[in-house]
Amino acid sequence: MAASAPNATDAEILAAARAILDASYAIALTGAGMSVESGIPPFRGPGGLWTKYGEPPMNGYQIFLSDPKKAWEDRIRRQNDELWGPLKVAKPNPGHMALAALEAMGVLRFLITQNVDDLHRQAGHAGLAEIHGNWKMIRCIECGARFRGEDIRLEVLPPQCPKCDGLLKGDTVAFGEPIPPDVLQHCVEHSARADLVIVAGTSATVYPAAGFAIEVKQRGGVLIESNLYESEITRICDISLRGPTGEVMPRLAATVADLRKARLS
Ligand code: ZN
Repeated sequence: MAASAPNATDAEILAAARAILDASYAIALTGAGMSVESGIPPFRGPGGLWTKYGEPPMNGYQIFLSDPKKAWEDRIRRQNDELWGPLKVAKPNPGHMALAALEAMGVLRFLITQNVDDLHRQAGHAGLAEIHGNWKMIRCIECGARFRGEDIRLEVLPPQCPKCDGLLKGDTVAFGEPIPPDVLQHCVEHSARADLVIVAGTSATVYPAAGFAIEVKQRGGVLIESNLYESEITRICDISLRGPTGEVMPRLAATVADLRKARLS
């Protein structure tokens, strides 16, 4: 693991806030680091769930399709285990709230998250693409409609889509499963317009999500990183803000709010 450095200085936060206010279309990409700060264990790395229990099969989607009834039975059985437990009790942390505040100010236009934990929604974020799905949702793999888990009856497995009778699956994207086209389209549209991207709590190495951030930089946009550690993208970042996102993001949002007030007055 890369060495941690002292937390971001006020000057670095100010530079990032200025860049965000100067941008015409700022977006954000968030990942597991933000979830960890809400008590959700990561998948990879020390203490990670996959490190402990083994990686899920790389052909999880094909396994689902080959026996959806069994896949649903497994899913229902797993709902009380160590993976689902923390998701049920997790609450948005100050980092999630700060990103929602930046959106409410009109300076953050869109957010792409790799997290499935629903915490950006719970923080009130509206312009959002959950590129790996949302653990609380169920999705029809025929028509793409999404439903809240509690709205789908599970007496008969696998459940059928209330709209088209298609096969329903948890919204969380399995290995081997294509990213749902509607989500991918949103990511493409918003990242194509972006001239600044805040990458928070992710080393931006998992594609396709990482590609959206890197593409903004390659087109000449500004790349701001907020991460506890140096990451693979630190060397191409314009501004790196070291520290927990739950501390850095609120400082950033507060500074943006102050600057914005000063500029408007
Ligand atoms: Zn359907």
